[in-house]
Amino acid sequence: MKIYNFDAFKKLPHAILFDTDNTLYPYDEAHACAMKAVRLKVSRTLAITPDAFDDAYSEARRQVKKRLEGTASSHSRLLYLQRMLEIIGLGSQVLLALDFEQTYWRTFLSNAVLFDGVKEVLDDLRLLGIKTAVVTDLTAQIQFRKMVYFGLDHCFDCIVTSEEAGHDKPHPAPFDLALEKLNARGKNVWMIGDNPVNDVQGGRERIGAITLQKIHAGVIKAERDNAPDAAFFDFSDLRELLRTLANKSASREAVPS
Ligand SMILES: [Mg+2]
Repeated sequence: MKIYNFDAFKKLPHAILFDTDNTLYPYDEAHACAMKAVRLKVSRTLAITPDAFDDAYSEARRQVKKRLEGTASSHSRLLYLQRMLEIIGLGSQVLLALDFEQTYWRTFLSNAVLFDGVKEVLDDLRLLGIKTAVVTDLTAQIQFRKMVYFGLDHCFDCIVTSEEAGHDKPHPAPFDLALEKLNARGKNVWMIGDNPVNDVQGGRERIGAITLQKIHAGVIKAERDNAPDAAFFDFSDLRELLRTLANKSASREAVPS
């Protein structure tokens, strides 16, 4: 655990908000496997070259992202695949789009593995009475499926998706909705995520959260104006920090006033 702001960690938080993708599990590998499976399936099904698929898909993604920027649907694989089929001249073949989307997420989930220590941290937090929420971009359907797949569906007090909130992070809407659901407005709240802008800057500027960045291969470190209050590689470091703060507060309570 690298602590940049020691004043932020004098006591346990009231609640912790967690990003999901690339915070609770590494995203890049699962995504790469899923894209490879889709590329193979599309090129076999439609007799087009993988390069032609790549071109059409990246153009489709660009168009959807531009049109829906800042909303959950801007990340929709289903919309990317629908538009990809239109771009290659097949029109909206919805059955194919659904089938390719299923291939993407089935492959993605079977290659996504939680980071070590995530469940243990969540158990610790429950025992300490610290509330927890997932605050994640993307549509509810797939984010709920991920929670179930990882066995985390009973581990958080609440979940907020950007589909539900109406905007992606770093818009204040998802952060505000999480605080409302946890009844944690004005309380000491930590935000944990990988993204320097969406999670670190967003958490601090929108709701005044203490921010912790999850670092691993491929994550851009939040620095200078965006620097988090702390950064960690391993969830065991987070457990250690919580244990230290819990012991501190226990010994404070034991001192007669
Ligand atoms: Mg993330």
